[in-house]
Amino acid sequence: MGQVNNYLWSTILKQTTPADRNPIAVVKVNLQAFIGGEAVTTGNLINVSLVYLNDYNGPLDFKKEFMSLMGHEMTHCFQWNGANTAPVNVVEGIADYTILKANLYLRYMHGMDWEINGTRGKPVEQLWKDYQAKYPGVK
Ligand SMILES: [Zn+2]
Repeated sequence: MGQVNNYLWSTILKQTTPADRNPIAVVKVNLQAFIGGEAVTTGNLINVSLVYLNDYNGPLDFKKEFMSLMGHEMTHCFQWNGANTAPVNVVEGIADYTILKANLYLRYMHGMDWEINGTRGKPVEQLWKDYQAKYPGVK
């Protein structure tokens, strides 16, 4: 777990000193049967859905999917969110960036169903260009 913490602090969150960091001493993982999402994290508690895990059938192998899921949720534990005032898309985007940077496929993205190698027949780079064309000014 220390390796994950250091990765999050140094590579993702750029929190180089303890004073920069969200003071989380322990992360708790609770496996429970619920419907409505892969996992829900509040503070230092990650609730993982056993229903989701039980029903998961790809496209990633189970271990990679679980690592991706945990990387995303661990980011939520350690990231700042402006005392819950940060836009949810920014908060979720940072958590998804964690798994992108860790070379885990982005199967697990909120509101999207795509992988880093492309979806809907387009590579990610083309999807980004399409998005920029749709919303001028986005860089
Ligand atoms: Zn999330």
